[in-house]
Amino acid sequence: MKRSGAILPGAVIGILGGGQLGRMTAMAARSYGYRVQVLDPEPACPARFVVDTCICADFGDARAAAGLARGSDVVTVEIESIPSDALRAADSYAPLRPGTSALSLVSDRALQKKWLSRSGFPCAPFQVVSDVAALADALQTFFPDCFVKRSQGGYDGRGQLRCGTAADAAQVFAELGPGTLVVEQAIPLAAELSVLVARRPRGDIAVFPVAYNHHVGGILRWSVLPAPQEEIPFRLSEQAQELARSIAEQLAVEGLLTVELFVNREGALLVNELAVRPHNTFHTTERATCVSQFEAHVRAVCDLPLGDVSLVKPAAIVNLLGDLWLADRPLDVAQMLDVPTLRLHLYEKAKPKPGRKMGHLSALGETPTKARDRVLHAYQILTQTIDPKL
Ligand code: ATP
Ligand code: MG
Repeated sequence: MKRSGAILPGAVIGILGGGQLGRMTAMAARSYGYRVQVLDPEPACPARFVVDTCICADFGDARAAAGLARGSDVVTVEIESIPSDALRAADSYAPLRPGTSALSLVSDRALQKKWLSRSGFPCAPFQVVSDVAALADALQTFFPDCFVKRSQGGYDGRGQLRCGTAADAAQVFAELGPGTLVVEQAIPLAAELSVLVARRPRGDIAVFPVAYNHHVGGILRWSVLPAPQEEIPFRLSEQAQELARSIAEQLAVEGLLTVELFVNREGALLVNELAVRPHNTFHTTERATCVSQFEAHVRAVCDLPLGDVSLVKPAAIVNLLGDLWLADRPLDVAQMLDVPTLRLHLYEKAKPKPGRKMGHLSALGETPTKARDRVLHAYQILTQTIDPKL
């Protein structure tokens, strides 16, 4: 049965997806006194250890999604790529937040990009293609440097290729196709930013401070909140927040929206992509803001006041990828924990794989730059090596 109005502690929150984002949302929900169940295909998913019930099923299993919703007062997601039948099935038994239309739009890169540009939001020039001939044309248009991305299912830089001068359309299509692809001009980047917005079903909005992000090979390596003013003028951060607020309003998101942004060499903002779930670039908010992104997620989907998302203290995170566990070198956890303000966050994933996010470190600082330097220093102690890409 559908309900409207506030969903109060003691109620059950259902989450489609039990990865690290589901796990941290569940931990926030528990601390508010909610009960939590998740649905995930992996029986040993990270959320498993902190929830009341873990339904083990494929994301496309509409009956299982309906089962999750039947036992929940509200259903939310930690990933967008849930097949629409399962979303509709869940939505018929409990409010699904964010809504099905925001989810369907954001889970398809081609639809998302078309919507952004139709709505007047700035993004990199792109073309949507679905055969080799159109891909060859697009590679020609964006010569000599572009990104070719699968429209569905990619994350952490997977499902995409950067194509230089000699790119062979047939070969690229064989690797990424069949299906719709988005070809995007490669933007010479001055910086990458993101903005998180929480929105209640009745329309109240809270906009978090702007995050400053460093990616290597398509994977986020570290992030700092707020963006250092030495790098990003205050006015640009404000513009980024206004842009994100406007996208959240137009999409009528019920829950969280993150807008990933590029700053080009001319200092202009371009929207890279959207996410309607908690986001890696806001893990800092567990330390940096009054209300964390995970609390804001719970508050927003339960239609409660969003609270104060302003900065308490600058914080930074660095991701711990599976490569660290696969290397021969031991990890010096004990010595690292001696670094002032440091916290270790591990997701209890059993199998480390290259590029797989296993956990992160967080640290505070008097300034964003000091927080970033401190967390990277801790990372160096942990790994006993200096990574030049950081
Ligand atoms: P996520 O893990 O955020 O879901 P994803 O796999 O969807 O990532 P994108 O966000 O599209 O991938 O790209 C990952 C990173 O690759 C970007 O943050 C940026 O560093 C780089 N990148 C992607 N597209 C472009 C572009 N058009 N120009 C320059 N850099 C780009
Ligand atoms: Mg991205």
